[in-house]
Amino acid sequence: MSVGKNLLYEGKAKIIYITDEPEILLAHFKDDATAFNAQKRGRIVGKGEINCKISQLLFQYLEERGIRTHFIDCPAPNQMRVMRVQIFPLEVVVRNIAAGSLCQQTGLPLGTVLKQPLVEFYYKNDQLGDPLLTRDRLLLMELATPEQLDQLQQQALEINHHLSEFFQSCGITLVDFKLEFGLDTQGTIRLADEISPDTCRLWNSSETDPNNRVMDKDRFRRDLGNVENAYQQVLERIQMRIQGLEVRGQEKGEL
Ligand code: ADP
Ligand code: MG
Repeated sequence: MSVGKNLLYEGKAKIIYITDEPEILLAHFKDDATAFNAQKRGRIVGKGEINCKISQLLFQYLEERGIRTHFIDCPAPNQMRVMRVQIFPLEVVVRNIAAGSLCQQTGLPLGTVLKQPLVEFYYKNDQLGDPLLTRDRLLLMELATPEQLDQLQQQALEINHHLSEFFQSCGITLVDFKLEFGLDTQGTIRLADEISPDTCRLWNSSETDPNNRVMDKDRFRRDLGNVENAYQQVLERIQMRIQGLEVRGQEKGEL
């Protein structure tokens, strides 16, 4: 592949290339890590491959449960072929437990279990610092139609339902996560971008220590160390669990 000429976009975590097929993009997952709107920069060795694999496994898991995603396949360990979509300039955040900006902006103590999942929409705009939007502001800015907004909310909750259950079975608590959605050429909403320890808050369920339990990018944000190990641990647990599910599925098929 002639790198450079096919570049569509280089972001903070991925490089997106166009391919010979107009409806297919190639996402190259980088080891680069950024936080606080790219004010903090670093590198997490092996992150590209780990996040690509975790995203692949979770996209496939969700597809099997009726969620439409942009995932096609992985031609290399840190590369993913995806369906090109028109991304809604929104970060759709789902929260199960209070952490991060929710605590800062509401005063809720870290770790407060929310009575029901909270879905929030942030404007994906680095210059403005990805501000939290209200429904009316989002509609005013025409970032989505009211129907699309309802669908995004609904899909985010469904994805949360599946992922929370899955991570729980891995001994991991899904605290919160960020999703991006887009419209494919048919006008269908598809889950896009990535699902990884960069975009999820994941706590080791058997740990209560507020630092030791962290298995996600907060280790990098808060300089907790062992970032690579934590990401690798998440991948290994997901792989183990999926292998277990596959074996169970085969046994059922043999009955
Ligand atoms: P950013 O720094 O904006 O977060 P990333 O490094 O995460 O960027 O690169 C991914 C970029 O590609 C994001 O802007 C994301 O919205 C976009 N993207 C992800 N999946 C798709 C897709 N299927 N089609 C088009 N764009 C996509
Ligand atoms: Mg990104």
